[in-house]
Formats: sequence, C-alpha cells, structure tokens
Amino acid sequence: MPSSREIHLVRRPDGMPRPEDFAEVETAVGDAADGQVLVQNLYMSVDPAMRPRLTAGQALNEAMMGGALGRVVQSKTDAFAVGDLVTSRMGFREYFVSGEKGLTRLTPDPDLPLTVHMHALGMTGFTAYGGILFIGQLKDGEQVFVSTAAGAVGSVAAQIAKIKDCYVVGSTGSADKAAWLKDEVGLDAVINYKETPIREALEAATPKGLDVYFENVGGAHLEAALRRMNTLGRIPVCGMISGYNDGQSAVRNLSNIIYSRVMLRGFVGTDFMHLYGDFQRDMAGWLKDGKVKYQETILEGIDNAPAAMIGLMEGRNTGKMLVRLAS
Ligand code: NAP
Repeated sequence: MPSSREIHLVRRPDGMPRPEDFAEVETAVGDAADGQVLVQNLYMSVDPAMRPRLTAGQALNEAMMGGALGRVVQSKTDAFAVGDLVTSRMGFREYFVSGEKGLTRLTPDPDLPLTVHMHALGMTGFTAYGGILFIGQLKDGEQVFVSTAAGAVGSVAAQIAKIKDCYVVGSTGSADKAAWLKDEVGLDAVINYKETPIREALEAATPKGLDVYFENVGGAHLEAALRRMNTLGRIPVCGMISGYNDGQSAVRNLSNIIYSRVMLRGFVGTDFMHLYGDFQRDMAGWLKDGKVKYQETILEGIDNAPAAMIGLMEGRNTGKMLVRLAS
C-alpha cells in the first residue's frame, strides 16, 4: 500500500497566492479493489484557471484537482492494464485509486515527447485550435493579435495564425519570451507589455487594424485591442488572467463592438469536441514538421506544485507549466 503526498488548499488567497495558502499532506492510499486501478502520477498540469477556483470552488483541506498524466500500477478491471498511461483530473497527488470513470487511456505518439500530450497535443493546444479557427473564424491572411503569446495556449494560437499566413502580433511580459516569439516563432511584431504601454505598442504594431484578437488577458489588453478592431472582427475570449488574482479585468470601451460589428465570445475547449480528430491530425503533423514550436517549464516533485501555481501567476513559466511527480 503506497503512501502519497498531496497538496491541499488550506487558506483562500487574498490576491497573489502565497506558499502558506497550501500544505503538503502525506496520506495512505489503499490497494485497488474490484473494478478499480491504482495510478501513479508522472506529471501534473498547472493552469491559470485554477486561480479563480482557489477563491471559490476548490474545497479547503482536500487534495486539489487538476490535469494529470499517470501510469496504472495495479489493476482490478479489464478496462485498464498495468502499464497503461491515463489522463485524469487527479493532479496535485502522487498516487490515487479510481474506478474507470474519470480516466482516459493515452496512446502516446511514438515520434513526440510524452509531455506534448499535456499541452500542444492535448487540451491546451485544442483550446487554441478551436478557439482561433472555430470561435475566431480565422481566415487566411488576416490581421491577428494574441496575448500571452509565449504561453501554452497563446503560443499555439499565434503559430496557427502564422500557418494560415496571417500577420500576427503577440504580447508577452519578458524580454526572453519576446525574443523567442520574434526569433524562433517568427511573429511579425512582439510587444513586451511590461516595457511599453500596450495601447501605444498595439497601435504602432497594427497599421491595418485587427480582424481577430485571441484574448487571454483582459483589462488593458482588451481595451487596447477594442480600439484596433476592424469591421466584423472577432474576439474569441479564452481567458482574462489579469483579473484572476483581484477580479479586476474591466474595460471602458466595450461599446466599440457596436459600430464595428465585432463578435466577442467566450468559450471552453469542450465547445468544439467535433474538431478533436482534425486537431490531433493537424497538430501532430505541425509538431513533427516544426511548424508549431513549444516551450515547457517543468518543476520537480510534488513539493514544488505550490511554487508552480504561484510562478504561473507571476509569469515565471516559459510555455507550459508542469510538475514532474515521477520518472
Ligand atoms: P500560460 O500563458 O502558459 O501562463 C500564464 C501566463 O500569463 C504567464 O506566464 C504570464 O505570461 C501571463 N500573465 C500572468 N499574469 C498576467 C497579467 N496580470 N497580465 C498579463 N499577463 C499575465 O497559461 P495558459 O494555460 O496558456 O493560459 C493562458 C490563458 O488561457 C489564461 O487566461 C487561461 O485562463 C486561458 N485558458 C482558457 C481555457 C479555456 O478553455 N477557455 C483553457 C486553458 C487556458 P507573460 O510573462 O507573458 O506575462
């Protein structure tokens, strides 16, 4: 019977999360009973959407929930064999016992690193794919702006727009990330919003306005984009991270959407599951051809999970933020 370390939320953060908001707890995990499996997590995902749940939604003094990739180490069901890889929402813990429900078997692409299934070739990449192509109705050659363009979702959305021969502007918050976007990814213009006010920088970078703004930030970013939207432009709203700590992501010029007939639509990845097969085929090809590049920040060990969560909100990740729980 293994023991498992897990991360509990013990206090709701006020603003930026702090290490004291979390506790590491060691717990005994039972063996798998009939119809169950015992899973050892290999990697867990850390996502901005977890931050609002720390304020409301995530129970206190229980293991936190989040995406995870694990390996079946005991099986008492025909549905899974020992050694199978499975994805689940049972992150923030090293081991767990589960029935079949809530587990999805992963057949990894032998030509790609395992971890891409947790971002570019997983739900993160799918969110970008459906968000920009289906919700954003992107057309070849359009004028596009992507915020948090060096992040897990943003970098994929920006590169899909480049594949579609669009003019693409990206924003990010560090010189290193800006250099990667310009030199490696080949965006047409990159804004470091911590160095240049986003409003002026976006105006200078978009002489032909914007047809699509892939929204990840809210607040000043959205205000700046609303000023640049062309008639019949689209704003797929993926996230608004600037407000996740303090609830402040308001804009003052939302009425710009009226005369420009701009469509602004929030979405989640499960809105376009009918595209999942197309996505997996396209993305696997783009990754293998080097048309979609990615970065990862992988912290080691469950004890670093709170630091990963805090680091994500501070922009200390480059690309997908993961924690490795076992090799
Ligand atoms: P990510 O971009 O890899 O990491 C978060 C990044 O956000 C940080 O590295 C930082 O990058 C930036 N950031 C943090 N605080 C900020 C602030 N106050 N203002 C501007 N930027 C800030 O994370 P991700 O998983 O790809 O998520 C990106 C966005 O997509 C988030 O808004 C998230 O909620 C959303 N999302 C939505 C869905 C959905 O289904 N709708 C699914 C996944 C993610 P910089 O250093 O560049 O500032």
